Amino acid sequence: MQTKESRGLVLYSRPYREEDRLVKMFTEVSGKHMFFVRHAGKSKLSSVIQPLTLADFILKINANGLSYIEDYKEVTVFKAINSDIFRLSYASYLLALADAAVVDGITDASLFAFLVKTLELMDKGLDYEILTNIFEIQVLERFGVQLNFHECAICHRVGLPFDFSHRYSGLLCPDHYQQDAYRSHVDPNVIYLLDRFQNMKFEDLKTISLKPEMKQKLRQFIDLIYEDYVGLRLKSKTFIDELNKWGDIMKDHPIKD
Ligand SMILES: [Zn+2]
Repeated sequence: MQTKESRGLVLYSRPYREEDRLVKMFTEVSGKHMFFVRHAGKSKLSSVIQPLTLADFILKINANGLSYIEDYKEVTVFKAINSDIFRLSYASYLLALADAAVVDGITDASLFAFLVKTLELMDKGLDYEILTNIFEIQVLERFGVQLNFHECAICHRVGLPFDFSHRYSGLLCPDHYQQDAYRSHVDPNVIYLLDRFQNMKFEDLKTISLKPEMKQKLRQFIDLIYEDYVGLRLKSKTFIDELNKWGDIMKDHPIKD
């Protein structure tokens, strides 16, 4: 058992036996671990073991079993996210995605920093759907999926109205569309945006604003990529899909006052 000081983000917590809890946390210096909290309700830790809590922790980390939280300071709670069901459901999906993307116990400080930064921007009110798309595209690599959204898979030219081909797991330019009879026929603007998202710096983010139709196309195409290349079905993602259906119904039938 090693004592470590690290920033940590609570991914989820669940009851264990009568009064205890198991808390899954993503730590900056030691990756993800499961922490055991005895008598969670009465514990001094009760306020910092909710999902989406970020803090500096003193941790006793056990490589092969349950780990323990010794102490904490500098707690950050994402207030705006927690008070909005839409933002909260997208943030919960990002936590689940990060949890699925890396194996427990493997240090991944850059993914940790990227996740925290994404949540901070979501909390500040930046577009949560676009932030989620950027996270989804950049985390693909962690699932072993490397897709090039920048150049034609055959002639390597760039800056053209590209389509995506599953056959080539890459792009086709107009000269090479015919190489795949089953090409995706995706809007070339979607591919252009994915190329930008893949290399997106957070400073550029404030300048991105997209129309609802384009967001919808992005959503559909990224869903397809995840189905075909990642094969992941997260409950939190299904919840977002349901929520969006309800959102659409409410937009079409506004409640009159
Ligand atoms: Zn080409």
